[in-house]
Amino acid sequence: MIVRIIKNKTYLIFIAILFSNCLSLNGPMDADADLETLGKWSVDGNKLKVVSKQPVENNSLYVQNMNAYWEQIYEVLPKEIMDKYVKELELITDGKEETLAGVKATDDSNRYWNFGIDPADLPKSKITENKDFMHTLIHEFGHVLTLNNTQIEPSEAEYQVGNDRYLTMEGLAFKDSYINQFVQEFWYENDRIDIWDEIQNIQNARKRLDRITLFYLNNKAAFFTAYAAESPEEDIAESWTYFILNERPKNDNTELNKKLLFFYQFEELVQMRSEILSYKN
Ligand SMILES: [Zn+2]
Repeated sequence: MIVRIIKNKTYLIFIAILFSNCLSLNGPMDADADLETLGKWSVDGNKLKVVSKQPVENNSLYVQNMNAYWEQIYEVLPKEIMDKYVKELELITDGKEETLAGVKATDDSNRYWNFGIDPADLPKSKITENKDFMHTLIHEFGHVLTLNNTQIEPSEAEYQVGNDRYLTMEGLAFKDSYINQFVQEFWYENDRIDIWDEIQNIQNARKRLDRITLFYLNNKAAFFTAYAAESPEEDIAESWTYFILNERPKNDNTELNKKLLFFYQFEELVQMRSEILSYKN
């Protein structure tokens, strides 16, 4: 197997792929470079405490009103996970579109998580009325759910070691973790994991993008979005999001239906689904 480059903590961002038909050059590996921090808060449930923020003259309305926005965000996401893991909120921006939001562990243990939001993309209306923003929130939550310290353990490994535990960018997945079971079920089909692993080793960004695009096109029926083909981490976060926002499939005739049904085997995830969807009532 091929070397995986493990870098410092970077945001697992959600690129605004929803708005375009082509893959963005900014993969999750090198996306942090263009992000500017406008303010940072420590998070305790739905309460925020300022850690730092830009001087008043640069202060956007969002920085001033972040409490109100956070309350809305906190309200729609399952509390047991938010309370346990999400301890920081950061306003990050690269201007309109591209990065809408992102999450990253606060250190290598993956115990606590930082939620990053781009104020340039925050909807003006209630967030629950904005489909793209809701999709992004649920997607980012999916990363916290699947990459926290109960799912992944820190690892020095730079290679995929063996076939029974998938090596994520954050560490080695436990055998029974959601992401490991997901990879076992969906990424060994058609040697996807090996082909994808080789692509990770391509240094030239343009060539890497060409190859990942081709990988997506060759496996199109297996992915909900082009962005999902970026990595198993993105695939499970996208599939999770579709699981939340779509009806339960009537059969398992397609790989996408199988991916939705994957989540129904876990009672706690079905519970979280109804928790999230209760915003519609
Ligand atoms: Zn993501």
